[in-house]
Amino acid sequence: MNHTRRALIRTSAATALLVTLPRMLQTVQAGDTNVNLYVDDNLAAYGFPDGHPLGIDRQGAFLREAVRRGLVARTTQRAAREALREELIRFHRDDYVQLVFTAETRGLALLDDGDTPVFPGVYRASAHVVGAALDGLSQVMDGHCLRSLQPIGGLHHAGRGHAAGFCVFNDLGVVIETLRRVYGVSRVGYLDIDVHHGDGVFYPFEDDPDLIFADIHQDGRTLYPGTGREYETGKGRAEGTKLNIELPPFAGDAEFMEAWPRIEAHFEAFQPEFFIFQCGADGLKGDPLAQLQYSPATHAHAAQRLVMLADKFAKGRIMAFGGGGYDRTNLAHAWSAVLAGLTGEI
Ligand SMILES: [Zn+2]
Repeated sequence: MNHTRRALIRTSAATALLVTLPRMLQTVQAGDTNVNLYVDDNLAAYGFPDGHPLGIDRQGAFLREAVRRGLVARTTQRAAREALREELIRFHRDDYVQLVFTAETRGLALLDDGDTPVFPGVYRASAHVVGAALDGLSQVMDGHCLRSLQPIGGLHHAGRGHAAGFCVFNDLGVVIETLRRVYGVSRVGYLDIDVHHGDGVFYPFEDDPDLIFADIHQDGRTLYPGTGREYETGKGRAEGTKLNIELPPFAGDAEFMEAWPRIEAHFEAFQPEFFIFQCGADGLKGDPLAQLQYSPATHAHAAQRLVMLADKFAKGRIMAFGGGGYDRTNLAHAWSAVLAGLTGEI
């Protein structure tokens, strides 16, 4: 396929999204709610071309289902803003931010070893993912909402100085650093139920005793990124603050539910003041990139229980991020289950 044809396909897909999004949101009521929902065209634009599993149609797939179930009307929608460079470098290395900023003009094809290609508008879209997260954070911290969901976000493989696994800037890492530096909230709970290990959050905070980390994922010996072994429990003063749970390929809801009390006990032991929830949908049965067999009941359970924990220790504060998920029907149902949990509809 030549470049002109590719560009045409990209343009028509983007135009379709612009046309359909506002129409879907017409049913939305104005006014403050407990939950902010981040959906807009700048976030939808975070995606890779040419049939890449992380395409630009994922936000729309979720939104159609969430609107159909009446969930969007129970939220306040907020648009993304572009994160400032000074905000990105709270987590990322300055030279890496510069590399992404100049990637297109320098004609770079890839930002890593092959999973994360440079795409049109890569810096702008990636900085909007972080900017939406920071808007959500300020909304929660200023008391305008209790919780937020950002379907296009939760880019948990990006490290401080590198892209990885479809992730350019790590919005979760920037939120954690911002909580500490701007808001003085140090003890942060991080729950990650994406099928892949959240290595871009785990390793930068491996020796940080205040990042209370719990990640349940498919066994790294069978899946990217190959990390998140159960013996990885934190280093030095942080020993014991990190919980990694590995499930074998083809494990499903029953195995998740059996493991769940360990996650709850972990958070009960450390009582974080704020929760971040990476609710990747790629653990659902039928995902093209992984082999777990969850149903959306897993996401519903995690969201409901996290609301309970947040109400207990964290003044109710939860920011949820969509993370991975490559089967469009699956991600629509999993993220809708999370939104239902966050809004108290289940
Ligand atoms: Zn994933």
